[in-house]
Amino acid sequence: MRSKTKMVHGGITRDEQTGAVSVPIYQVSTYKQDGVGNFRGYEYSRTGNPTRHALETVIAELENGTHGFAFGSGMAAITTVMMLLDAGDHVVLTDDVYGGSYRLMSKVLNRFDLHHTFVGTSNPEQVEAAIKENTKVLYVETPTNPLLKITDIKKMADIAKKHNLLLIVDNTFATPYWQQPLDMGADIVLHSATKYIGGHSDVVAGLVVVKSEELAERIHFLQNSVGAVLGPQDSWLLMRGIKTLALRMEAIESNTKELIQFLQGHEKVTTIYYPGIESHRGHHLAQEQMSGFGGMISFDVGSGHLAEEVLKKVKYFTLAESLGAVESLISLPAKMTHASIPADRRAELGITDGLIRVSVGIEDVRDLIEDLSQALGN
Ligand SMILES: *Cc1c(COP(=O)(O)O)cnc(C)c1O
Repeated sequence: MRSKTKMVHGGITRDEQTGAVSVPIYQVSTYKQDGVGNFRGYEYSRTGNPTRHALETVIAELENGTHGFAFGSGMAAITTVMMLLDAGDHVVLTDDVYGGSYRLMSKVLNRFDLHHTFVGTSNPEQVEAAIKENTKVLYVETPTNPLLKITDIKKMADIAKKHNLLLIVDNTFATPYWQQPLDMGADIVLHSATKYIGGHSDVVAGLVVVKSEELAERIHFLQNSVGAVLGPQDSWLLMRGIKTLALRMEAIESNTKELIQFLQGHEKVTTIYYPGIESHRGHHLAQEQMSGFGGMISFDVGSGHLAEEVLKKVKYFTLAESLGAVESLISLPAKMTHASIPADRRAELGITDGLIRVSVGIEDVRDLIEDLSQALGN
């Protein structure tokens, strides 16, 4: 089955009992046992729920894995996966990972004696150099936020294999429609399903997929032990989102290409960050390991003042954090998502005050272009 078909026919797609073509929302916590310890597949909804199970099955298929797991948020998924580690272990991570992942490592898990080093994973030599005797996990995000840096997943898999590390890839920005890290050697792929997979700014959720029995068993044990599971209602919303994931990603990318052309021709735009353009540092790598470039663009308008003006004037771009929805969203990383990073470190990273980040939606792109054009002031 090809990816688009899997989104509609993959996993468990209907109710055997009634023939309903949508999986019912099993709003239930416990299940009647036929005899003591004799249950029909489900005993308690933290351990397993049929609606959640249907979602877990389809995401596993989309990522070409064997087992999927659904959590109450992307951070709940990441936290649970990090529980694979023991006190004293060390993790090497991409230096511009999602802010919440940075906070989890540096302000929470550090208190449990879990060590970490952030490196530019776009440079494999830096990754090699950061590996220590107690390193157990290599954690990569690609493309990253907000500069859309690309990391070579196959090279990371080689390094992980050589040093006996688990390779974990946060695939939130690319989605399984454009990038399949397990096929490139990753051990675990995870998502903030709050973003493209849900796709409608109406649910907070996280997903994890693995391709080995051993890891599946360990993660199911942790999912049940930690208990940060996704409820049946939200599981159903994600399955509904997945059915149109391909359509949305294609519409989003096509809009993004036209917006890029507009931005490239605009005198006030100094730099554009998008993996789909030739001048982007990770362009060729993105072309190799992704089948599409996605719908996130960052661009510099040269000053914080102009950037704030643009954000004030836009009508169709909603000023908000988050990304990946049907509606276009706009944000100012230096003042919003990345405000907690010191100004000099931000400058070093290229996150200037004039940098605007856009998550392109599925509106008519002519409206989006007209809107940005008036907001930029001509
Ligand atoms: C949003 C996000 C997360 C965290 O997910 P939540 O669902 O908000 O908890 C993790 N990684 C990336 C890349 C994200 O964009």
